[in-house]
Amino acid sequence: MFKTILPYAIMVATGGIALWRGAPYATLLFLLFLASWVTVRVVLTRGAEKPVIEERGRRRERTLTTAVFVGMIILPILTLATPLLDFAAYRGLPGQVAAGPAVALAGLYVFWRSHEDLGKNWSAHLEVREGHRLVTGGIYARMRHPMYTAIFLITVAQLLILTNWIAGPAGLLTFLVLYMVRIGPEEQLMADRFGADWEAYAARTPRLIPKLGA
Ligand code: SAH
Repeated sequence: MFKTILPYAIMVATGGIALWRGAPYATLLFLLFLASWVTVRVVLTRGAEKPVIEERGRRRERTLTTAVFVGMIILPILTLATPLLDFAAYRGLPGQVAAGPAVALAGLYVFWRSHEDLGKNWSAHLEVREGHRLVTGGIYARMRHPMYTAIFLITVAQLLILTNWIAGPAGLLTFLVLYMVRIGPEEQLMADRFGADWEAYAARTPRLIPKLGA
């Protein structure tokens, strides 16, 4: 309960302070994004609390997700609600900020669909849960890692909307590191767990960029 309410409380506080500081457009967008993100996670991961039966790279995983949390949440909040990063602000190119919402919406849509299809098999870290099933249908028929595709889109939106040399690219860079470090071990985990089923699935499905028209 507390974990659910906390993000919304932080959001309202950030919004209030940031609007008062006078960055209304970026603030509004960031908060809308945060609200949608939290809502999708909270609504669609209900029941994803089955016991974990296998976990890999625990320390490495916690470090990576913490870095992404700083890049996608903490630095944007500091930029919008405090003067700490004001020195790194820049004037965006014409149309740059306006292009952000379209990318963010595409990202949130894919994020929603992937959570819906992955359902109870979702974990923030590399884990296999009791009754874990290999998902190959829905949006997972088009790409093997739609949730990562979604997060890439969302961090690109962050880069476009937050005109700050530090907080703008921070999401994309930290997530890129997470992706590059995690993708090998994650696919190995799936291969070890699901064997030939995973191999067949991986052979017919691209990683991040969807197969269209299928
Ligand atoms: N990489 C996926 C899932 C991210 S959530 C995506 O981008 O959509 C990470 C967890 O999902 C991992 O702990 C792994 O156990 C699980 N996972 C990844 N691919 C899966 C699949 N096709 N079916 C079931 N679980 C999967």
